[in-house]
Parts: sequence; structure tokens; C-alpha cells
Amino acid sequence: MLDYIIVGFGLSGLSFVERLEKEGKTYIVFEDGSQKSSRVAGGLYNPVILKRFTAAWQAVEQLEKAVPFYQSIEAKLNKKLIFPLPIYRRFNSVEEQNTWFEACDKPVLERFLSANLLTNSNTGLDIPYHFGEVKGTGRIDIQQMLSLYLQYIDTKESLKKEVFEYDQLQIEKEYVVYKGFQARHIVFCEGFGVKNNPFFNYLPLVGNKGEYLIIKSEKLKLNEAVKSSVFIIPLRNDLYKVGATYNNKDKTPEITTEAKEELQKKLNTVLRAPYEVVDQVSGIRPTVRDRRPLLGTHPVHKNVHILNGLGSRGILIGPTVGEHLFNFIEQGTPLEPSISIERFKELR
Ligand SMILES: Cc1cc2nc3c(=O)[nH]c(=O)nc-3n(C[C@H](O)[C@H](O)[C@H](O)COP(=O)(O)OP(=O)(O)OC[C@H]3O[C@@H](n4cnc5c(N)ncnc54)[C@H](O)[C@@H]3O)c2cc1C
Repeated sequence: MLDYIIVGFGLSGLSFVERLEKEGKTYIVFEDGSQKSSRVAGGLYNPVILKRFTAAWQAVEQLEKAVPFYQSIEAKLNKKLIFPLPIYRRFNSVEEQNTWFEACDKPVLERFLSANLLTNSNTGLDIPYHFGEVKGTGRIDIQQMLSLYLQYIDTKESLKKEVFEYDQLQIEKEYVVYKGFQARHIVFCEGFGVKNNPFFNYLPLVGNKGEYLIIKSEKLKLNEAVKSSVFIIPLRNDLYKVGATYNNKDKTPEITTEAKEELQKKLNTVLRAPYEVVDQVSGIRPTVRDRRPLLGTHPVHKNVHILNGLGSRGILIGPTVGEHLFNFIEQGTPLEPSISIERFKELR
């Protein structure tokens, strides 16, 4: 008898599995590669909403949990995965600069927003006003982290690289059985893939498609992420991620020429250095109608659970909600109403 079956290994699956590891629980993971949100993400952790200069929902508390969480994964996998990276917000007007100064004085933001505006010295960029610097931010190499973590659980023989077939799940009162694996609980962490899940597809997960371009620019030489109408995120070897788009109509996994054109148009307003597009990626963010995560237990089956709805900020939210769901299942610690699936009980 295992403790858990986990379906899906993006940022939500990883957050829960890491909690299981810390608590000495046994598990098996099913992962079929059907969703790409975590694997294509920009990897930025940033508690500030850069459109309005406000703090994102519970982001400061989440950041305090997230950094040590990823540090302990770095140590476990013996690989550098966290890259501190300031974000430079390009201002479009003097009014915007003034709004920034007002935000700098707000108690929750003062440690993140620098009151010293920066003048651009990079000839590869077109910056008509100043930059505002966001501090305490960084990038996680999510792709590397997920792939190394999957290798790690594979060596423990705790990974099945296959589609989870919902109709094969047998649910008993005290345990579940799936293709010969018996476990006390099952947790679904499928991101947008939950749309195919008959236990939880009543939940209002909307989904928002995001695409990035990967560009190469030898002349740009950026050491920080620049945010204008798009993000330019330095990777390595003169490569940069540019994006992302937000599209809540198209739910197909393919990359599109519309997104490429939109991103290049925006990029061309800020980039003077020559560049070439070398790749394009896309994924569907698991966004929810009310922009909050989805955690909880199936209304009828007490050993069937969900961890989803990480939206566009999975890096920060994941470690906190992984812990909340674990404490809820194992210790009965109540979930905050704003993240519990109970808030959608009228949709069942
Ligand atoms: C373009 C883009 C940029 C982003 N940038 C950032 C960023 O910079 N910072 C940030 O914090 N967040 C970012 N995000 C958001 C972040 O990626 C999401 O919050 C996060 O990926 C959600 O993780 P998840 O594990 O819930 O979903 P997913 O990553 O979609 O993972 C679900 C997993 O379940 C698997 N699965 C599904 N169904 C089944 C099944 N039946 N059987 C087996 N396996 C199954 C899928 O293959 C997948 O691996 C971005 C997202 C996108 C799309």
C-alpha cells in the first residue's frame, strides 16, 4: 500500500511530491507530457504586478516559502536552479514614473521597488524614460528542475511515464487502486489537463494560452530581465525569452504565427540590437475564473484530491499550496475558503 498516487508532474505535482518526500511518504507519479505550461514558463519569481505596481495575492508570504523550497531542491538534485535576476521596468511616461514613486512608499512594496530610477546605458535597448528596478526577484530553471526531479523519482522506481486513464481507477472507502497500485490517496495535478478528468472537470478552470519566442542577439548583452509591453529574459549564450502572450480563447497546444507577430511587434518597440528568432513555445496556464488556486477533496470520494489553478504564478504559489493541501489531507487543517474547491460547490 502506497501513501499517494500523483497524476501530473508540473509545478503543482512537484510541490506536492516534494512535501511527501519531506514527510517520508511513499508515492508513484503518472506523467504523460500532454501539458507544457510549467516546461515553457519564463521561470520568473516576482511578487509585484508590474502593470499597476501592486503586490500580487499573498505574494510576499509565498516568496518567503518559495526560495527555501527551491534551495532545498537544488541541494537534493545537486544542481544550480535559482538565478537571482533583477527586473528593470521600462517606463512609458513621466506619470508612470510618479506612480512608481508612490508605490515605493507602500510598506509591503518598499523592499522590492527601488526608489532610485536607473538610466539606460545599453545601446541595444530603446528606453525613452528611466527604468524602475524590482529587487529580490529571480529565475528558476524550471525545465531543468522538472527533468532532473523526474530522473530522481525514476531511479526510485516511483515514476510511470504514461497517460493516466481515469476509467481504470477503482475507488474504495479507505484506498484507491489503479493498474495494480494501491494507495491511501490520489492527488490530481494535471494543470489544464484536468478538463479531461471526470472527477473535477466541473470546476471553472478557464485556461490561458501563453507563447514565448526564443531569440538570439549577440549585441544585446543583458544581465537583467527587462519588462516593457513584453518581458525580455536572459537565458545563456546570447539567448533570450521574449513574451509572453495571453490568450483565453485558443486552447490548442500549437504555436501560432499570430503570437509570433504580436511578440515581434512589441519587441521591435524596445529592441535596437539585431536579433533572430530561433524558437517558439506555447503552453496553457491553468487559470481559474476567480484567479485563485483549486485545492480540496472530491465531494463524494474522500481519498480523491486536487491541486490546480496555479494560474500565471506557479513558482510562487506552488510551495505554499502544496503544503496547505498536505496538511488538509493528513491533519485536517482547514483550507482557506478562497482556495478551497468548496467555493464552487454549486457547480457540481
Ligand atoms: C508562457 C507561459 C509563461 C509563464 N511564465 C511564468 C513565470 O515566469 N513565472 C511563474 O511563476 N509562472 C509562469 N507561468 C505559469 C506557470 O507555468 C503555471 O502556473 C504552472 O505551470 C502550472 O503548473 P501545473 O503543474 O499546475 O500545470 P502543468 O505544468 O500543465 O502540469 C500538469 C502536468 O500534468 C500532466 N498530465 C495532465 N493530464 C495527465 C494525465 N491524464 N496523465 C498523466 N499526466 C497528465 C501534464 O503532462 C503536465 O506535465 C507561465 C505559463 C506559461 C504558459
